[in-house]
Amino acid sequence: MSRIRLLSETVASQVAAGEVVERPASVVKELVENSIDAGAGKIDVMIRRGGVSLVRVIDDGSGMDRDDALLSLERHATSKIRSAADLQAIATLGFRGEALPSIASVSRFRLTTRESGAVAGTEIIVNGGKIDFVRDGGEAPGTQVEVRSLFYNLPARRKFLRSENTETRNIEHQLHLQAIGHSRVAFTFVRDERLVFQLPSTESLIDRLRDLYGTQLVERLLEVKSAASSQIRVTGFIGRAGASRQARDQQLTFVNGRAVENPLLNAALREGYHTALMKGQYPITFFFLEIDPASVDVNVHPAKREVRFRDPGGVREIVVQCIQQTLESERASWQEQFRPPVVTPPGTPVAGVADPGQKSASSNTPSLQHSINPIPGDRDLPHLEPDFALRGQRSVEFAPPRSVIQPQHTQAVAGVADPGQIQPRPPQEFQIIGVLNKLYVLMENADGLVLVDQHAAHERILFEELRKRMEEQGVPSQKLLLPQTFDLPPRDAEWVERNVSTLQKMGIGIESFGPNTFKIDSLPVFVTAADGVQFMQSVIDELKSASNSSSPLRLGEDMIAKTVCRHAVKANDPLRYPELEKLLRDLLECDLPYCCPHGRPTMIQISLAELEKKFGRKI
Ligand code: ADP
Ligand code: MG
Repeated sequence: MSRIRLLSETVASQVAAGEVVERPASVVKELVENSIDAGAGKIDVMIRRGGVSLVRVIDDGSGMDRDDALLSLERHATSKIRSAADLQAIATLGFRGEALPSIASVSRFRLTTRESGAVAGTEIIVNGGKIDFVRDGGEAPGTQVEVRSLFYNLPARRKFLRSENTETRNIEHQLHLQAIGHSRVAFTFVRDERLVFQLPSTESLIDRLRDLYGTQLVERLLEVKSAASSQIRVTGFIGRAGASRQARDQQLTFVNGRAVENPLLNAALREGYHTALMKGQYPITFFFLEIDPASVDVNVHPAKREVRFRDPGGVREIVVQCIQQTLESERASWQEQFRPPVVTPPGTPVAGVADPGQKSASSNTPSLQHSINPIPGDRDLPHLEPDFALRGQRSVEFAPPRSVIQPQHTQAVAGVADPGQIQPRPPQEFQIIGVLNKLYVLMENADGLVLVDQHAAHERILFEELRKRMEEQGVPSQKLLLPQTFDLPPRDAEWVERNVSTLQKMGIGIESFGPNTFKIDSLPVFVTAADGVQFMQSVIDELKSASNSSSPLRLGEDMIAKTVCRHAVKANDPLRYPELEKLLRDLLECDLPYCCPHGRPTMIQISLAELEKKFGRKI
């Protein structure tokens, strides 16, 4: 007797449903995608009890005639592709012809639909994959699908469902994805008879994001600067440096309008943020790629959640570049925050306020502005001279800025600023109030109080300087008194061999010295470690996991970020006033001045409004 037999249509659909319909959120996804493909301008979603009891999706799209409605419930019935060739370039969300029959096979299912010109619509009721009845109906144009008692005939699947709240959250997330991907479509979402959101149709993504998440999030976003590429168009919004989340739920990527999970895109986003992201944090992105449908394969996952790019390297490159450019684009507006408020001391002409020469001459004017012109005799603070670290020398206490304009105190900052000397107009001015806890530089600007973490700022400056050196001629190194040889376990040895040229550019004089043996004869100048081998071991430990796939440049950056920290200004190293000025000026010149190389902010703004609230002046 034959052991192999063909499965019935119903069983085959239930098998397919196992892949397509994982949970109530998958039902919502498939139905909403069908509505969007049908050209809907408005989609209403209603659920009860986490979608298990009911999912109802109503659209005002094209609708179907009776024959199509019946056909839509057959497996492999689709209006979206005709031949295998169409699979090469899919422009619709659906194409597999599996969703409706799959959903209908594991639920109590009702479809009502009507084409706009048609006299009557059609109603079809299906239970567990079997059509119960078909009749004419008088509904509004469009399509309505009701899915009740999901998995009622598959108790095993039902057991895998999570709590009602979790399933609801999944559905809501799914709806967010669709709503963000298709801002022209109006959405409403009703949960257990309560309206959760109502989103009007809009042409602009940022309006949709504001409607969904509120102004607070929108204020933390930057519009993506599209990279020059003829193949790919990139649009969307991403979080500013420092705006991040502990979970990935707002790291969203869309390819041709389809929300996708793509490890390559995720890695590229991370790489673009690189030093602007704190450990364990995820960027906030609403990132849209438009790409020739022929260059991307969407038929790799039954739920069409994943995509594969024909040219992954090219896509990665563009994404990384876009993110970097976008983050850097914020710099000019960020620098504005350092500008002092324009104050006019009584009796002083406005033009004189910003002029350090005039201000200093009237030495009793209680203005605290300071020029940041290069000052004769000013010591280059965070530079990479052989005596790279200036620790120990920096013993002069920070002199209150008051002294600059009070002649009797000028000794404390001798040679710093000659009160009478007229200097060229400064490129940027600060209004430093003082230093808190030997760490935070306090400044005043039009908005209120600015706090700069002097340590974080110094790290950022050093980081960018070292990176530049690494890219250009390599980091200067200093010879060890005695070259050392050491052995490594094979995997570490393989990693070192692969990265030896990067390590050398980083100022580490390392070379192979037999199988799994290496010789080290110099270290980067900023490394004070006495033991080269120990230093090398820590470099390997820290970097090999962090940067397994990225470029040599990224590896170098990681290395700088991880080693720089220990050599930046110590938190409570008192800095003299000109050193502070130089620090701030150097910071403003960085590519990514807003955060240290580990993603922590360099600056915090406390607005006057916040202060007023705290002091009860304003409620
Ligand atoms: P696919 O979307 O992959 O084509 P489905 O099983 O989801 O497969 O749907 C089958 C067909 O039913 C679709 O190709 C479409 O023609 C039609 N259809 C489904 N939902 C709707 C809807 N909401 N409005 C109009 N037509 C629909
Ligand atoms: Mg579909």
